[in-house]
Amino acid sequence: MTLSSLLTRIDTDLPEALDRLMDLLRIPSISTDPAYAADCSRAADWLVEDLRALGFDAASRPTPGHPMVVGHGGEGGPHLLFYGHYDVQPVDPLSLWHRDPFDPEVQDTPKGRVIRARGASDDKGQLMTFLEALRAWKAETGRLPCRITIFLEGEEESGSPSLIPFLRDNAAELKADIALICDTGLFQDTAPAIVTMLRGLLGEEITIHGPNKDLHSGMYGGAAMNPIRVLTRILGNLRTAR
Ligand SMILES: [Zn+2]
Repeated sequence: MTLSSLLTRIDTDLPEALDRLMDLLRIPSISTDPAYAADCSRAADWLVEDLRALGFDAASRPTPGHPMVVGHGGEGGPHLLFYGHYDVQPVDPLSLWHRDPFDPEVQDTPKGRVIRARGASDDKGQLMTFLEALRAWKAETGRLPCRITIFLEGEEESGSPSLIPFLRDNAAELKADIALICDTGLFQDTAPAIVTMLRGLLGEEITIHGPNKDLHSGMYGGAAMNPIRVLTRILGNLRTAR
């Protein structure tokens, strides 16, 4: 196999790949609204089926919220974990859409051809790009490139409440040498890029207790800690100079 034969295969299979993505985009897997819980499960089941078609040992795994999709396949080389999410953001207000957000369409625009649908660029398009690359690789070589675990959640757009407990409960199974997260944007429309060292997010609620009455700044200023002074010191120390 050469890279050019692989790329040719991807081009040849593009219509079928697009059909698959469109199928997934038609499922309204909105994780924040309980009315769409069955659709979230349907999206998970759809992905399990597709992973099995690729030769993965895949299953939809229950959580207190929406299911996780976990698939294992391939062997040898580094163990690669791929993360993505099949849930999408809500679509309100619908009046701002030019078409049904779950009726995907390829459109020609001044910037080239684009897919209009909820979730096309977050994260169904990205995750299917990875699965289609694996499909082409397997079609050309008869096997997957290395040991791969696919890990897709359905609660990313609602704060991932089941993610950490699931990771803890299945740490040994999901431990990998490399983690790929395909849930980001492109810096340029036409320049594919690999982004490294993404920053995380920290949320904290801080309560600072201070004096129970006003203290005169001339008499106490400097000696008595003011809660605002404490808070600014904490915030100022949250990051290093780099
Ligand atoms: Zn996303």
